[in-house]
Amino acid sequence: SQDRVFNFAAGPAILPENVLRKAESELYNWRGSGMSVMEMSHRGKEFLSIIQMAEADLRALLGIPSEYAVLFLQGGATTQFAAVPLNICKPDDPVDYLVTGSWGDKAFKEAQKFCKPKLIWSGKSEKYTKIPSSGELEQSPDARYLHICANETIHGVEFKNYPTPENQNGNLVADMSSNFCSKTVDVSKFGVIYAGAQKNVGPSGVTIVIIRKDLIGNAQRLTPVMLDYKIHAENNSLYNTPPCFGIYMCGLVFEDLLEQGGLKEVEKKNKKKADIIYNAIDESNGFYRCPVEKSVRSLMNVPFTLEKSELEAEFVKEAAKEKMVQLKGHRSVGGMRASIYNAMPLAGVEKLVAFMKDFQARHA
Ligand code: PMP
Repeated sequence: SQDRVFNFAAGPAILPENVLRKAESELYNWRGSGMSVMEMSHRGKEFLSIIQMAEADLRALLGIPSEYAVLFLQGGATTQFAAVPLNICKPDDPVDYLVTGSWGDKAFKEAQKFCKPKLIWSGKSEKYTKIPSSGELEQSPDARYLHICANETIHGVEFKNYPTPENQNGNLVADMSSNFCSKTVDVSKFGVIYAGAQKNVGPSGVTIVIIRKDLIGNAQRLTPVMLDYKIHAENNSLYNTPPCFGIYMCGLVFEDLLEQGGLKEVEKKNKKKADIIYNAIDESNGFYRCPVEKSVRSLMNVPFTLEKSELEAEFVKEAAKEKMVQLKGHRSVGGMRASIYNAMPLAGVEKLVAFMKDFQARHA
């Protein structure tokens, strides 16, 4: 609508307009309960219906098999950097980390406190613009799991094919924070999938963990109760007070994604949007550049620079004047970044590309 901007932020990020409208209409008095979702007991039948529906819809969206638990937790994906090793391995266990960007690197560093992670591949020397093929990896056969970041939000590199874990348990663990529910995923290929909600599926404050049930129940002795998957699984994510309103919002987003036809349809839209921007960059005769290798460019986060880098601040400023905001790249890499999550409409991408062309014409 007229009074909204196109928000290209990496997260917290844009949410679907109809979801916001629905939440607005239900805010004051949720479905005749006489109160808002924020005021409800998390153990009452109203909220139970909300969290159960959210889980059922997420299971339908991702086709999550019954041998997987779905947990709605707090603490962001960052907390999972610690929870994963604490729950899935012992202090002396080797585990493998594949680092394709700064989030994978943070996960690797955090794991060093709880186990003996081995860095089996890093894209750092190539400024995190690549993803290795399975053949390039030397996995440890005795590793408890292989950890990857499915989509690096800052560097804009995304796995298109997931590596096959060669460890004894075949456990692949993925941080999917920035491409969660943006495309279809074969959940059965993973031991654990985790994601902060605040990019594709809701507000910050909710972290979703999808875990194969046989991996639950072996947490290290020192594991804080709030990080123990077993506690949360046994209590259906209601061990303590969960982020109720955030879970409700995620539920509305899941419903919306199902109404759009599910993740196959959503993926098609995301591919189309990403193609439009990458093509504009590649066809700019070098005025705009994207450093990421073409085959692994993210559908969600598009980093780009200007050949004349001194114009970048001007680009961001002029775009903001035209109601396209949050286009500045992450402080660690500079340049620009357009995050185009599920909720970014095609019109937002088209407007950005038209602006890019106009800006180039004026400054080339
Ligand atoms: N992993 C990825 C891929 C991310 O993009 C982010 C947040 N930008 C995080 C982890 C950290 O998430 P949180 O802020 O929810 O802890």
